[in-house]
Amino acid sequence: AAKKAGRNRVTLFNDDMRDEAQHQLLMHNDIINGLEKGEFDVYYQPIMHMDTGTVEKCEALIRWCHPEKGFIPPNEFIGVAENTGAIRSIGRWVLERVCQDFNRWTDMGLDLSVSINRSVSEFYPSGSHREWEDLVSSYGIDPAKIIFEITESLFMDGNESPVDELKQMRSNGFRFAIDDFGTGYSAINYLRNYPVDFIKIDRSFVMDILDNAQDRTLVEVIIKMGKALGIGVIAEGVENIEQLQALKVFDCDCIQGYYLARPMPVEDFIHFCNAYRPGELGPAEPHVEQY
Ligand code: C2E
Ligand code: MG
Ligand code: MG
Ligand code: MG
Repeated sequence: AAKKAGRNRVTLFNDDMRDEAQHQLLMHNDIINGLEKGEFDVYYQPIMHMDTGTVEKCEALIRWCHPEKGFIPPNEFIGVAENTGAIRSIGRWVLERVCQDFNRWTDMGLDLSVSINRSVSEFYPSGSHREWEDLVSSYGIDPAKIIFEITESLFMDGNESPVDELKQMRSNGFRFAIDDFGTGYSAINYLRNYPVDFIKIDRSFVMDILDNAQDRTLVEVIIKMGKALGIGVIAEGVENIEQLQALKVFDCDCIQGYYLARPMPVEDFIHFCNAYRPGELGPAEPHVEQY
């Protein structure tokens, strides 16, 4: 943007920046209206335990079907929502929907924990977590069934209050996972000071686990580290049986990915869980000779 403005112009606020600000403002309004008009939905993706082959967890993922623009992927609006503050409305809405869906499948006899993504900015203004705790308790849900997925950036300097709130929520029974592990600020020292319950190995490592020896080693080390620290390890983005088997050899706790199932609407998800038979996909027999 600065380059386009030209060498000789000194601008603090140029055309590109104005366009971007305008885009964000429009999208902000679209999000707030869309939440009221029912344009958003929450999809669920199952997570499988490798030792038993059972589905005991799932991840809630927001979906937006815009009346004119059609499906807009989260990566195209979550970042904007973080900038404009709309993320707090999104987060509240998602949590409430998840609570409703949770009670629905629980009433049908399913026993599942659910993972919910939280951006760092959702922890501001400080104290927001109390609203989430009240919401979960108003639905009569055991906090231990809720896992909040945060990123490593929460542990960066200057985020003292979110970290305090994480600790407080954990002492109230909520659980936490570090999402996209390995892609962010990876001073793993924070795991010692601020323990979490799960680590989710980023999809980019799993993607190359078969043909990139370095990525394979990193995955193995992350899993070993998780075991040593008593932190559960979930591998994201598992798309084929070969990746699943490699993760099985490393004794990874859980897997999530298109190989098991794509994220789906709650009705389909409940149907999936009822039809699913443990061992259908796993536990896979380790093919040790391959590695
Ligand atoms: P994430 O939390 O890392 O979620 C996993 C993403 O990987 C999801 O993308 C999921 O659909 C996708 N995925 C799962 N398995 C596979 C696979 O086998 N292959 C491939 N290629 N992809 C797979 P999605 O739903 O588009 O979400 C993107 C990101 O948007 C999420 O990444 C998360 O950071 C954010 N997000 C989604 N829902 C929410 C939300 O309710 N609140 C917040 N704050 N962020 C959200
Ligand atoms: Mg996630
Ligand atoms: Mg995430
Ligand atoms: Mg992730």
